[in-house]
Amino acid sequence: MSAERRLEGEAGSAQERLRDHLSARNLRLTPERLLVLEGVLTREGHFDAEELLEHLRRSNKSVSRATVYRTLDHLAEAGLVKKHHFQEGHALFEHVHGRDHHDHMVCDRCGRVIEFVNDKIEALQEEVCREHDFRELRHVHQIFGICSACQAVEKRAPNASPHHSGHA
Ligand SMILES: [Zn+2]
Ligand SMILES: [Zn+2]
Ligand SMILES: [Zn+2]
Repeated sequence: MSAERRLEGEAGSAQERLRDHLSARNLRLTPERLLVLEGVLTREGHFDAEELLEHLRRSNKSVSRATVYRTLDHLAEAGLVKKHHFQEGHALFEHVHGRDHHDHMVCDRCGRVIEFVNDKIEALQEEVCREHDFRELRHVHQIFGICSACQAVEKRAPNASPHHSGHA
């Protein structure tokens, strides 16, 4: 119940932020762009533009592919979503509005993304910045490796060609 109310409040301020961002570029917050924003805010975790498009179409929201892609970029510029390039040539988005900071582990085999926060790592990064008299604005911490599920598959089939890294 309170979560719902919180989402409403967040959605309201996200809408204002997008509207401000667009109007600074002489663009309007059209109903289609609003649908994209709403779709983004209700999605958890990481998704790509095609998944979002499919999700919108399944819920009978008619938004063109071009609008989805362009609006996602506007949302990224407005700081409402983050655009990740975990794998070359493939962008994943996640909404960061009202969410706490976190970092990522990315599986090189299946593309799975695991979110984590470690207070010690966060504190160490601040310490390193202080040592270099560096004023941190933001950081992105990514660890690439092999997730537990993919490790289990490799253990079961130890002769599976390690060079054949299938992009799932
Ligand atoms: Zn971090
Ligand atoms: Zn994996
Ligand atoms: Zn994330």
